[in-house]
Amino acid sequence: MTEKPAETMIRATTHNVELRNVARKIMDNQRISVEEGVLLFEQASLGFLGILADHCRQVRNGDTAFYIRNFHIEPTNICVNKCRFCSYSHHFSPVSWELTVDEILEKVRAQDETVRELHITGAVHPARDIVYYGNLLKKIRETRSGLHIKAYSAVELDYMIRKSGMSIREGLQYLKACGLESIPGGGAEIFDETIRQQICSMKTPAHAWLEIHETAHQLGIPSNATILYGHIENYRQRIEHLSELRAVQDRTGGFNAFIPLKFRNGNNLMDAVQEVSVTEDMKMYAVSRIFLDNFSHLKAYWPAVGRQLARISLSFGVDDLDGTINDSTRIYSLAGAEDQNPVMTVSEMIELIREAGRFPVERDSFYGPVYPGE
Ligand code: SF4
Repeated sequence: MTEKPAETMIRATTHNVELRNVARKIMDNQRISVEEGVLLFEQASLGFLGILADHCRQVRNGDTAFYIRNFHIEPTNICVNKCRFCSYSHHFSPVSWELTVDEILEKVRAQDETVRELHITGAVHPARDIVYYGNLLKKIRETRSGLHIKAYSAVELDYMIRKSGMSIREGLQYLKACGLESIPGGGAEIFDETIRQQICSMKTPAHAWLEIHETAHQLGIPSNATILYGHIENYRQRIEHLSELRAVQDRTGGFNAFIPLKFRNGNNLMDAVQEVSVTEDMKMYAVSRIFLDNFSHLKAYWPAVGRQLARISLSFGVDDLDGTINDSTRIYSLAGAEDQNPVMTVSEMIELIREAGRFPVERDSFYGPVYPGE
């Protein structure tokens, strides 16, 4: 049998027999185990991972790289929690805010008709409840009926639903009836309980995060998933996190995309922890693409990593660069990200994707292509 070019490159990249065996499984589109995932993190070179991740991306998405016209609304940064890595909440940020419903609707009206998706996430405000957030969804829907509303991380949902006395299922059904269409992936951080206790002990526990997403999927509400990497966790804890997500996806198929989120050390209680290198960022993308064999999309959230790294990530398994954002998020700018006013025009996005040798495709919230004038 003739060897494929990628297989030849793999053989040239490593003499490690165990790694070659794992590579063979990946090239044959077989699932790899937790142990094999850890092996990739611990022993594979970046070049080796890049070849494999690129193969996995190519199988799922060809040469396409997606983007969306979107904006964010962050209703408040006043929070009942005190996560140690957070630079955003009123505990650590130099500014605090609570937008009124009118101010939020004004932001919705200010967007032009080509913007398709609204992402709402913020802090866990002690005085706001599920009725408030449900009404907000209804009013946004009345203001702009065609806008896809992706709203409220599992951490916000956990708080508002518990406060209401509803079950998770009832709370999500209520919000869906108000206009909730999908759920962002924030708040997952790292599922390992020992690390979670050290970095965000007050936060929604991992099992509740997973239950909220799985229940949402059962109700026809898709979601995204994330990991916060590059702080005090180890490789095994990262892979175990991915393994939990892969198991949910096997049962529901409800995750749209996975988004690795890099820990940034500006203005928070973990500022003594060094940020990881670009090599480590690309390893995280590549191993995620390889391990999460049942996720269709891997996203680089460019306001977090910067434009240059986002472009490089397209060679390490990423097929989605999120969106135009329109300078509407402060979560990463408060943590010291390069882009203090994140906004990317559609032409800039297209150029960035083309520079990486990929074919840019504007998408809707479910990764359907959007054609000009639609
Ligand atoms: S990360 Fe979220 S939940 Fe934690 S303190 Fe910050 S805003 Fe609150």
